[in-house]
Amino acid sequence: MSEGSMKIETEFDQAAAVKLVLELMAVPGRSKQEGRVVELIRTKLLEAGVAPSNITIDKSTHEIPGGGEVGNLIVNLPGTKKGPRRLLMAHLDTVPICVGCQPKLDGDVIRSTDQSTGLGGDNRAGVAVVLTAALELLRQKRPHPPITLFFPVQEEIGLYGARYVTANKLRSPELCFNWDGGDPGNVIIGATGDYAIEIEIEGLASHAGVHPERGINAIVIASLAISDLTQNGWHGLIEKGKHRGTSNVGIVNAGEATNVVTPKLSLKAEARSHDPAFRKKIVEAYRKAFVKAAKSLKSADGKSGRVTFNADLKYESFRLDPKESVVSIARSAIEQVGLTPELCVGNGGLDANWMTAHGFPTVTLGCGQRDIHTVKEWLHVPNFLQGCQIGLLLASGEV
Ligand SMILES: [Zn+2]
Repeated sequence: MSEGSMKIETEFDQAAAVKLVLELMAVPGRSKQEGRVVELIRTKLLEAGVAPSNITIDKSTHEIPGGGEVGNLIVNLPGTKKGPRRLLMAHLDTVPICVGCQPKLDGDVIRSTDQSTGLGGDNRAGVAVVLTAALELLRQKRPHPPITLFFPVQEEIGLYGARYVTANKLRSPELCFNWDGGDPGNVIIGATGDYAIEIEIEGLASHAGVHPERGINAIVIASLAISDLTQNGWHGLIEKGKHRGTSNVGIVNAGEATNVVTPKLSLKAEARSHDPAFRKKIVEAYRKAFVKAAKSLKSADGKSGRVTFNADLKYESFRLDPKESVVSIARSAIEQVGLTPELCVGNGGLDANWMTAHGFPTVTLGCGQRDIHTVKEWLHVPNFLQGCQIGLLLASGEV
């Protein structure tokens, strides 16, 4: 169709979208326990006329560490017009604090009436955007290109659903849109990468009052290493020339008694940077600092401690070219509903990190979430509805 002659329809049943998000938020579904929310979505799709054979659950739980109640939910909507396949996605799980939530609409806001729970707008608002787009296309009998709906499990505990997705079930989408965020004008085109660091220190036990010189204190080794990292600028905010990153020692476990020279310590830390080479340098600085500290502390008879060092890439960073079509299409959809698109880059991991690593460049969009992962969480309903409008435009292939 020629430009200017086409009026893009942005109307949809807003009351139904609000009802749907309330219904989705009331269903408990922390990570690894997404079975009930999968059932609810499946029921809605079947009622709308989706063929049961187009709704599948993948086998990701066979590979996800610790398994899970249910795999990723993947839905195929065969195209009713030509165009590259589009994928719309939103993770299913919520953080544990949202279990038991009683969502209530109050003007422009949805909150949980139970003040001891979060709301689960992260990410049931995203799920409601994707589902609303699909249900509206079907209800309006609106022509659309082939669509994949992708509802990954276990995002909150390590992006597991997206990481271990049975990728061929996604049917090679060319344009991928993920909803998980607040401001519907934001287009997240990149995110950082993150290493999980695990360190075990083995010292030597001895009586702390009788023969402390015979022991090697694992806590002292860790302290020396952490202070080395801090003094040399490798802990916290890291700025070396034009390279940037962050690292944090988050968990330390050691010791059972004060009268024993502590023989064992385990520690968990993380290292982030958008720059993969620099991120590895941070990890290397950690390894060196702990090995050096272990060597430097000796017992009276010349023994030293041992360090076991492990670094696991939780997710790789990515950065989409603003000129890529998935980015420009997301921008035009946002402009179409009267908002100003803002390209941004995140400092946390997203399912989009793994989607992009699988070869499906994905932008992440907002859907009204606010104060997520806290008992104060709420949903900005007008932003949520704008998210739905954008989702419907993107699904229809009209932008
Ligand atoms: Zn989320």
